[in-house]
Amino acid sequence: MDILFERIRIVSPLERRNEVGYLWIRDGTIVHSAAEPPTDVPPTTRRIDADGWMAAPGFVDMHVHLREPGQTHKETIETGTAAAANGGFTDVVCMPNTEPALDSPMAIEYVRHRAAGLVAVHVCAAITLGRRGELLTPMHQLIEAGAVMFSDDGSCVRSAEMMRRAFEYVAPFDALLSQHCEEHSMTEGFDVNEGAVAAKLGLRGYPSVAEDIIVARDILLAEYCGNRRYHVSHLSTRGAVRLVRLAKSWGLRVSAEVTPHHFTLTEEAADGFNANAKMNPPLRTRADVDAIVEALADGTIDAIATDHAPHTREEKSQLFSHAPNGIIGLETAVGLTLTRLYREHRFSLERIVELLSIGPRRVLGLEQPRLAAGQPATVTIVALDQEWTVEPERFRSKSRNTPFAGWHLVGKPRFVFNRGAMWECQL
Ligand SMILES: [Zn+2]
Repeated sequence: MDILFERIRIVSPLERRNEVGYLWIRDGTIVHSAAEPPTDVPPTTRRIDADGWMAAPGFVDMHVHLREPGQTHKETIETGTAAAANGGFTDVVCMPNTEPALDSPMAIEYVRHRAAGLVAVHVCAAITLGRRGELLTPMHQLIEAGAVMFSDDGSCVRSAEMMRRAFEYVAPFDALLSQHCEEHSMTEGFDVNEGAVAAKLGLRGYPSVAEDIIVARDILLAEYCGNRRYHVSHLSTRGAVRLVRLAKSWGLRVSAEVTPHHFTLTEEAADGFNANAKMNPPLRTRADVDAIVEALADGTIDAIATDHAPHTREEKSQLFSHAPNGIIGLETAVGLTLTRLYREHRFSLERIVELLSIGPRRVLGLEQPRLAAGQPATVTIVALDQEWTVEPERFRSKSRNTPFAGWHLVGKPRFVFNRGAMWECQL
């Protein structure tokens, strides 16, 4: 590995850098990073004219379902991390709704052992044993085993008292609790958002207020238990945006993530019984999408995360009501973010890098990589202006359940560098 990016835009907000220059990476280390070209480049170094490209601290996807152990017909740690690298990510956080659930030190060690490649896999462990909502997991031991956050994702911790106990339990070591916010008593057997499309197709609806109720409940609990760290997973409603904004204005340590599909699509995408637009939380309305884009811009939302949820073709081609929830996202997230937020909504590159790299690391408490000479290379490189068509057959993921097949995007991941390794993206 010995590669020099010439005329590349280096964007690293924490180092107050947004400049065109030269980035030279050799054997996993940044050896030159400056506006001026290096002088001592050997002829064997690969030179790339990176005019119109951006180098940023490696992107992090803090909400990914790798499906291992237990559902390796959908995805494995190997294929999921390959998809992450191919999509421009150096780090992912894997969710605990595997079989068995990630609720023991042994399960966490298993995942960490299996993830020794370029992409760093951080573990989100379960809040309750087996994600059953009945008994808390040994969260202190799970942190010692390497867990970076806790959630029963896939389902919500239903009982307010159980969630209160979780907040109290983690207080001495200040762990991060995250929630899949869904008041299950209102969403039993839902198919899509409660709204026009549900009415038209005769499907069961998930009212947006069922998400808002849990966000409100948990914000109140986090405050009551002494201002605990709390993170809203895959936020999808205008109501939840308002609640997170309010909580932040109160000085609470509340954060939130949004998926690319929730800032790109509305419930209309499920019209015609398109199972690749069926997920939990469901796609919402235009008003929700508009509120989310505003919140991504103003800092209310801290991170973009995909909720990458692989399912096989067979599973997704069942009757709509029987098809499982979720879509894959690792290999379309960067393209959708650059197309929608940078190009259409004119977000600054600093804000894009905040949402994909700095924000999630800050929420998780991970070290922030630097782009200075001498640093280990944890870098994502994207071609900002490159147009491309989403071809799921090129994906490294084991699954193909995406509503974005055939979409034309502007902005494409090109390279990732991490842990001494390099991947040239092939989308
Ligand atoms: Zn979830």
